[in-house]
Amino acid sequence: MIASLTKFGLVAFCSSLLVACAQSPTGRSQMLLYSPQQMNQLGADSFEQMKKQEKVSKDAKLNAYVSCVAKAVTAQVPASYGITSWEVVLFDSRQVNAFALPGGKIGVYSGLLKVAKNQDQLATVIGHELTHVLAQHSNERLSRDQLTGIGLTVANAAIGSSDSLGGAATMAALGLGVQVGIALPYGRTQESEADRLGLELMARAGFNPAEAIPLWQNMSAAAGGNTPPQLLSTHPSNENRIAELQAQQAQVLPLYEQARANGLVPQCKA
Ligand SMILES: [Zn+2]
Repeated sequence: MIASLTKFGLVAFCSSLLVACAQSPTGRSQMLLYSPQQMNQLGADSFEQMKKQEKVSKDAKLNAYVSCVAKAVTAQVPASYGITSWEVVLFDSRQVNAFALPGGKIGVYSGLLKVAKNQDQLATVIGHELTHVLAQHSNERLSRDQLTGIGLTVANAAIGSSDSLGGAATMAALGLGVQVGIALPYGRTQESEADRLGLELMARAGFNPAEAIPLWQNMSAAAGGNTPPQLLSTHPSNENRIAELQAQQAQVLPLYEQARANGLVPQCKA
């Protein structure tokens, strides 16, 4: 059985009442020290900073394409998350990268579109990034850092003082490490979780989950090129990834077929 995304709602409820009481959507126990409100604030502030640092693309056609894919995938996020709107920004950059932040923020770099070669491959990345947010992976990382003492000062300063919001270490914990020069890779468990549930999200949106395999193959191939994907620094791949994605196809294919039967047939074009 695939894990249900609707479990997320319970997790959010639980973590808002009791610190360290949470379960990831695949049933893994999580320690979360920050409230969803705090995480949303961190996400929103960091996103504003990214928009100042990076060049925002004015290419109408590419913006429409990225928005089309993002809109279809985010439409599948259960209402229990309480995310009422999504802000999607395309950055004009050769970087092969993308990110999602708590508070409904999605950033895509135009360089990614050379590796994610069609709408289904782009949906793979967006579904993966969204899952990191929905499964509260950055909250988990900030919380772990705080307990181990590494991020104590940083996290407290970030939460308690507006001056420190968007600080490099906080942004790194949110998965923006590459942009701020500190690469903090997600853990293997978080990566598997994001792959698995991201696949489910994209399939529910009517994107072909089989395209997740060529996407990650393209990503690996690009690693040897002139512009190695920065996405791989924060989302490390391993030889098991493709095998796991292949093994999960049988579980998500019915969701894809059901979505198509229900008229969810995205036609986003670059
Ligand atoms: Zn990841």
